[in-house]
Amino acid sequence: MHKATEFKLEARPSIPESLSRLDELANDLFYSWDHGVRNLFARIDPRLWQKVAHNPKLFLRRVAQNRLDEAAEDRAFLSEYRRILSTYDAYLEVEPGPEVTTQLDPETSLVAYFCAEFGFHESFPIYSGGLGILAGDHCKAASDLGLPFVAVGLLYQQGYFIQTINAQGQQVARYQSHFSDELPISLVELDGAPLLVSVPFPGRVVYAKVWKARVGHICLYLLDTHVEENSPEDRELTLQLYGGDETTRISQEMLLGIGGVRVLDALGLSPTVWHINEGHAAFLILERCRKAMAEGLTFDAALELNAGSTLFTTHTPVPAGHDIFSRGLVQHSLGEYLAEAGLDFDTVFRLGSKNSGDSVNMTSLGLRGSRFHNGVSRIHGGVASRMEGEIWPQIPPEDNPIGYITNGVHVPTFLAPEWSSLFDIQAPTWKSELRNPDFWEFVDRIPDYHYWSVHKALKQQMGDYIVRCLRRQHRRNGTGHSATERMTQHLVSPEKDTMVIGFARRFATYKRATLIFSDLERLERLLTDPERPVVVVFAGKAHPKDKPGQQMIRVIHDLAMQPALMGHIILLEDYDQAMARRLLCGVDVWLNTPEYPKEASGTSGEKAALNGALNLSVLDGWWGEGYNGKNGWTINPRSIDLDPEFRNQEEARDLLDLIEFEVIPLYYNRASQGYSKGWVQRSKASMKTITPRFNSQRMVMDYVERYYQPACTQGKKLSANNYQLATELADWKERIRRDWKGVSLSVRQRMPAECLHDQEINLAVSVQLNGLKPEDVHVECLVTPECTGTHECTGSDRILLQCEAEDDEQTGGDTLFSARILPPYPGLQSLRIRMYPFHEGLTHPLEMGAMIWL
Ligand SMILES: *Cc1c(COP(=O)(O)O)cnc(C)c1O
Repeated sequence: MHKATEFKLEARPSIPESLSRLDELANDLFYSWDHGVRNLFARIDPRLWQKVAHNPKLFLRRVAQNRLDEAAEDRAFLSEYRRILSTYDAYLEVEPGPEVTTQLDPETSLVAYFCAEFGFHESFPIYSGGLGILAGDHCKAASDLGLPFVAVGLLYQQGYFIQTINAQGQQVARYQSHFSDELPISLVELDGAPLLVSVPFPGRVVYAKVWKARVGHICLYLLDTHVEENSPEDRELTLQLYGGDETTRISQEMLLGIGGVRVLDALGLSPTVWHINEGHAAFLILERCRKAMAEGLTFDAALELNAGSTLFTTHTPVPAGHDIFSRGLVQHSLGEYLAEAGLDFDTVFRLGSKNSGDSVNMTSLGLRGSRFHNGVSRIHGGVASRMEGEIWPQIPPEDNPIGYITNGVHVPTFLAPEWSSLFDIQAPTWKSELRNPDFWEFVDRIPDYHYWSVHKALKQQMGDYIVRCLRRQHRRNGTGHSATERMTQHLVSPEKDTMVIGFARRFATYKRATLIFSDLERLERLLTDPERPVVVVFAGKAHPKDKPGQQMIRVIHDLAMQPALMGHIILLEDYDQAMARRLLCGVDVWLNTPEYPKEASGTSGEKAALNGALNLSVLDGWWGEGYNGKNGWTINPRSIDLDPEFRNQEEARDLLDLIEFEVIPLYYNRASQGYSKGWVQRSKASMKTITPRFNSQRMVMDYVERYYQPACTQGKKLSANNYQLATELADWKERIRRDWKGVSLSVRQRMPAECLHDQEINLAVSVQLNGLKPEDVHVECLVTPECTGTHECTGSDRILLQCEAEDDEQTGGDTLFSARILPPYPGLQSLRIRMYPFHEGLTHPLEMGAMIWL
């Protein structure tokens, strides 16, 4: 049979004059958090809006002319259109408040934020999971706050894959090309021609064009190698997010790090703070050093200069999240670039080596190339300090410079509009109180019935949505009608208000999606109790190369298809941000069972809490700070020294115990009013304690205060007077590195073992400085109280010893340091004396990683 060639023709509408600014709205990611803008598009043609997957630009190309013409004549629509536009204009007019301008002067400072993925909205699929969503939320909050801020990333034509799960429970990954004119971006032109940046690659130059995405007040620039100047292979370098092999990965990272700096240069932007969000972008250090060297600085001075204005954030302790490139690959890939830059491989290797391995670790490179560093929760900050401790070899991990800022989520994006409207009535100024926990006490004043009715309405919307998804998925898979009906049975009768537990995130193995199945018999009994049924909904993608992750999907699929559990276990395909919003607003309980301490932060539980869902989670990541005993439930992780199998069993038993004895009884303790008072109370406790702490405004302001402002100041100090301090520091560090090996501390005078509480004692040590000067070091005594019931055992007092005499003859050339002190604590205390190199210009006093103890 002859198969006809098919030509696609798209008849585009013309937008009526009176609606001309729809185009502007479609080109600003403001729509990704403003429900009003999205509703405006949906109103014109609700079915098409679904069909184009909530993509405003695509919608405006495909919508029928008569729909637009009708809208242009519809007075109700026009008034809504004008209302939305005035909200938008008002948003753009807001100037940054003093909390920002006193820290970062918008005229003279600029934060550049680099990340490999950005998750703003489902219509812009250049994200895979938590990291991307977090980066999107960071940008959104930066826009809300009016920060001087610019973001840099890559434009992946195919983005991340679309997932289907077939009848056998196999994940099928499909990549779809997105044409740039379907995305909320525009091509960056310079002097009338598209801007092209180039990066030297082995034996060739790779070019990238640049796209600009508007995110309210700020911009995101994305590099794209799909240009004629490149070979067909190079055009595909930016094809997929986390696709291809090691060579693809390092090439992408060269484009992001090196190319990204060149984009900002070409645009005439001069950031004063550089934020490397995860190791993928760490090559930007090299490019900035290259530029400084072109101005005459040595590499070491260039590094001091640039590192001082750079923040590196590490996001995971899981090895797969850290890129490690072999020496050969780096030498080959960067060879030409390094030669041009006047750098040698050993320099890169010195910055990027870890555990004396023969490879370059992008996390190590990021850490050595920056002077500000953080993890993303209190627990993770500690874990990262230990994992990366060798960067500061002589510093105890608890003292090394890795701090933490706990991740938060963008409230306007993830809070259901139904809640937002309720808050508008109850506490009209709530949007400007996102960092004020006291203010959020207002949640308790919402009448219970009103509170519950909002939750119930959202839950029903979620139920309808899940039913639609399941029917579509199973029609395609050929599942029988009766099975599909049974699958959805508990969601189609909202009056029964069946408890729903949600679990959705990437299927990475450490997240242990299948932990809840450890005792199937018991689980089945709990879920299928006819009086108190429970539904557990799962969704998530596994990386196409992650076979164990895909195996977890299969296990859940099989259980969901078993007659005994059908309708109680549900597996949805193609988790994305749209599905996340639905599930997070609708479930009663949000489940998270990571293997401690691998969940660096996690953010989905924060989104659930904003919307009144209760967290049931292993005490890891953000939940370690969020849980207060009354606002959810927690599974205490067992010691990581135990056999993993045993650990899983124990934690799984805790989980089922909680579900059986606490969660289900509380949920179904319904009085005549039809809902559980105790549940509502707990849910309110969760909403009011979590919303004002785990949101992205608080997070970004923490970044501003603890890192951006200090980095900006440090950068200015280092570059003043023709880079005087940077040069001085580089020389000083070289001297310290050379001479430190010979320094030593010894007791000058025996320490008394006891004294009276008001009796001064003398601390005195002899220091062999090995040619260093007394002012090159700090000698200090740490006093730690003995833990007794009356004292907290945290922290120590630090007492600085002063130089008393140099080259003291009595001690044969040693230098004497001493201090007279009163015992800081009553009773028993321990005293430890240590010395480290010190220079006033250092960003962090222990950044050299050198320290000796008496
Ligand atoms: C928030 C979010 C995540 C992160 O979920 P975690 O449970 O924190 O891993 C992943 N994907 C999407 C679509 C999200 O919205």
